[in-house]
Amino acid sequence: MTITSRNRPFSRAQIRELLEGKDDDWLFSRAALATELEFGNEVYLRAIVEFSNYCANQCHYCGLRAANRALGRYRLSTDSILGAVHRAAANDIGSVVLQSGDDSYFRADTIGWLIREIKARHDIAITLSLGERPADELGLWRYAGADRYLLKMETFDRTLFERCRPGADFDGRLKQLEWLAAMGYQVGSGIIVGLPGMTLDTLAADIEALCDLNLDMIACGPFIPHPQTPFAAAKSGDVLSCQRVTALLRLLNPGANIPATSALEVLKPGARLKSLRRGCNVVMPSFTPEDVNANYNIYPGKNGSNGDARARLHALRAALAAEGLVAASCRGDAKTRRYRRQPGVNANSENKTQSENKIQSRRSKHVSGH
Ligand code: SAH
Repeated sequence: MTITSRNRPFSRAQIRELLEGKDDDWLFSRAALATELEFGNEVYLRAIVEFSNYCANQCHYCGLRAANRALGRYRLSTDSILGAVHRAAANDIGSVVLQSGDDSYFRADTIGWLIREIKARHDIAITLSLGERPADELGLWRYAGADRYLLKMETFDRTLFERCRPGADFDGRLKQLEWLAAMGYQVGSGIIVGLPGMTLDTLAADIEALCDLNLDMIACGPFIPHPQTPFAAAKSGDVLSCQRVTALLRLLNPGANIPATSALEVLKPGARLKSLRRGCNVVMPSFTPEDVNANYNIYPGKNGSNGDARARLHALRAALAAEGLVAASCRGDAKTRRYRRQPGVNANSENKTQSENKIQSRRSKHVSGH
């Protein structure tokens, strides 16, 4: 196989062909093997606490956009956020994601206080996903103990980005990803697969751009049209294309955490589990309190499942076990080189044992390599 000038195992043309579905058996079996080699049969869980659905932005794809007056808005109290994190920790989850719309109501010191409080009460990794915030705030939160930050570019095509996110600052968002890395966060970004106007060429270029960022987390879910947005009439992203994207990203970023998104499950029941056998290694059950979680309506069907968080988690663990996968209770740090190199950071002994075990899991049992 040709090594490209940027030292990648695939050329742009090869990525393009694999995205077209030229060799799915090869792609998916290799992605399964690469995942198994790094993570054994472990799946990392992230309890996501969606603490505010207020948003200042007008993204054309997202149900939280400021102009959506049909949405009941909520903000959780700090007590309620801490309660949700407590439930996650009590359910043996080693990592929590605090996510919201771009909501400046939560001041930097309030978030800083929350981070410190969570760290004092629990041995749990914290990922923030609060959108665009100034560097001093990001620094303050890192200092307070936040471990990771997730900020999806949604696409790296500037024209498409500007069409989908009016008023948003493409360069500023990229800059924030640089700051986060410099501050020692594990950094996550990603794209929405199948945004209106996105082509296979866009996707191939986006995959390369994601690789160039040397990310610790890469989140790519399919687009789902939301009725109260300008993209209401657009068609959904394709589940199989999304699985090709995440499988390619696994091969190109073996140690990165790559979630199987809930959006997959909304479009096709069972697709999330399938993605865990095609290169993904993370699932993100919602721990947002039941009285508000349906209002975190970024796309229809989000948080649509019945039952409380505990019951849903139980069902998820059972579904994973039926696939021969284990819901790990560790922090689930990335195994990327950049992260490993950080001074003073312990490369997580639980993770190491798993990767060194290289257990023959059922992750790759169902697919054949060649
Ligand atoms: N304000 C934060 C969090 C945004 S919501 C931020 O800007 O980072 C989290 C993610 O939901 C977004 O990054 C986007 O990728 C995804 N999302 C929003 N609307 C969507 C839709 N209609 N279909 C699929 N994913 C969507």
